[in-house]
Amino acid sequence: MKVVIVSSEVSPFAKTGGLADVTGTLSHVLKNMGCEVMVFLPFYREVWQKGIEAEKLDVDVAVPIDRRTLTVGIYRSMTLGGVPVYLLKRDEYYDRTYLYATPEGDYFDNLERFTLFSRAVVESLMALKEIPDVIHCNDWQTGLIPAYIQSLYAPHFKETATVFTIHNIAYQGLFPATLFDITGLPQDMYNMEGVEFWGKINLLKAGIVYADVVTTVSEKYSKEIQTPEYGYGLEGVLKKRKDRLFGVLNGVDYSQWNPATDRYITANYNEKDLSGKALCKEDLIREFSLDIDPSVPLIGIISRFAEQKGFDILSEAMDELMKLRLAIVILGTGEKRYQTLLSELASRYRGRLSVKIAFNEALAHKMEAGCDFLLMPSRYEPCGLNQIYSLRYGTIPIVRATGGLDDTIRDYSEKDGNGFKFKEYSSKALVEKVKEALKVYRNKKRWQTLQKRAMREDFSWQRSARTYLSIYKFAMNAKRGEISSTEMHKK
Ligand code: ADP
Repeated sequence: MKVVIVSSEVSPFAKTGGLADVTGTLSHVLKNMGCEVMVFLPFYREVWQKGIEAEKLDVDVAVPIDRRTLTVGIYRSMTLGGVPVYLLKRDEYYDRTYLYATPEGDYFDNLERFTLFSRAVVESLMALKEIPDVIHCNDWQTGLIPAYIQSLYAPHFKETATVFTIHNIAYQGLFPATLFDITGLPQDMYNMEGVEFWGKINLLKAGIVYADVVTTVSEKYSKEIQTPEYGYGLEGVLKKRKDRLFGVLNGVDYSQWNPATDRYITANYNEKDLSGKALCKEDLIREFSLDIDPSVPLIGIISRFAEQKGFDILSEAMDELMKLRLAIVILGTGEKRYQTLLSELASRYRGRLSVKIAFNEALAHKMEAGCDFLLMPSRYEPCGLNQIYSLRYGTIPIVRATGGLDDTIRDYSEKDGNGFKFKEYSSKALVEKVKEALKVYRNKKRWQTLQKRAMREDFSWQRSARTYLSIYKFAMNAKRGEISSTEMHKK
């Protein structure tokens, strides 16, 4: 099976969040399962700044955009696992400090940037004479591809199915209707059944409407987004496509996230011998300049600073939390209002609450290893990766029961459970759950049993990748008009 994965982030080339980890690892696992895989990504500044080598191919593509035709260069790089990554180069759009937005807000020309990328992917496939079985698109940045495959490029890709994965429905790629010509799509696709959404262009909706199959990153989230509370206005559109909508949980790349081999952490450890974890904790206490005894329970948060992640209930809960015997370390970047809020709290509780505003992969690993708990009080969470990583590190997740957090974490009981989970989105529920978790922490025997249970959990990619393979086959059948979605849903 020939699969093309298109994404605006791919690890280790360019990353702002979980999407990069997912597309980076999935491409390898699919290759190991026998697929022929190609990956497409914009040639961002981040890629060459990392010193990643790429060779320029002889073919350039001419991409019509608005009333112009822009030339896009195709560069090929290779991942360590031997998957070819095609980097599409057009410097005035991609050679920038950030991928999508500065701290002040989105780049003003994101519609042009990602229309160009999406259309250049399709043009590149034609120029390279590639007719894939499946094009797997991810998030709004690639939402136009299924629309192109069904319209302007339909004659070339009669046998190519498209799969569109929603990693976060709150980010939809909304743009003024007056810019529709930039997309080059036929005018009749701008309507309620197409890419129009309350008077605007909606690129995520384009992906949902025109892909042969739509997926999202956990079973629970696939249900939640069909409701007004979580659907961000697209619940009706998704409901209409529910026969073609599947939830596939993200997996973990344990070659990157494993305390036994992790090269970022002070001391390696495993389920049989956790002594290294204590050294990691001491290291982390120093790194965050905490003024605590190592026996004090340490809670970590690694997160984008965005409304979704629950910083409102967290800051509301902070005074109560700080009355308890615990310390908190936070690593994140994102919206200014949360940076300010958290920095203020950190100066109020200096020595017990420490915040680092940075994107720092090494420190993220050190926190997974050195903390006792990892807190994710998200309002919603499509899948969430940190809670799954933390299990392997014996760092017990405390999460709100939503989306992938609900699907991966089972609330603690003596016989079962791999973490702590609260239902209601409130500071009170959060504080209560933390208190419950601390009680278990104080009981050495129970705590160690819980840690070991967590470390034994297995969320490796094999299972998820197998599900993607069956979804690809289903999409190919759907494209050819041989559908049996009930069968697929039963599987
Ligand atoms: P999301 O994709 O919504 O940001 P996920 O939990 O799915 O959340 O994935 C987050 C990924 O990004 C994890 O790999 C996490 O370690 C990483 N990450 C998030 N913030 C930071 C940061 N400030 N520094 C380093 N890594 C981070």
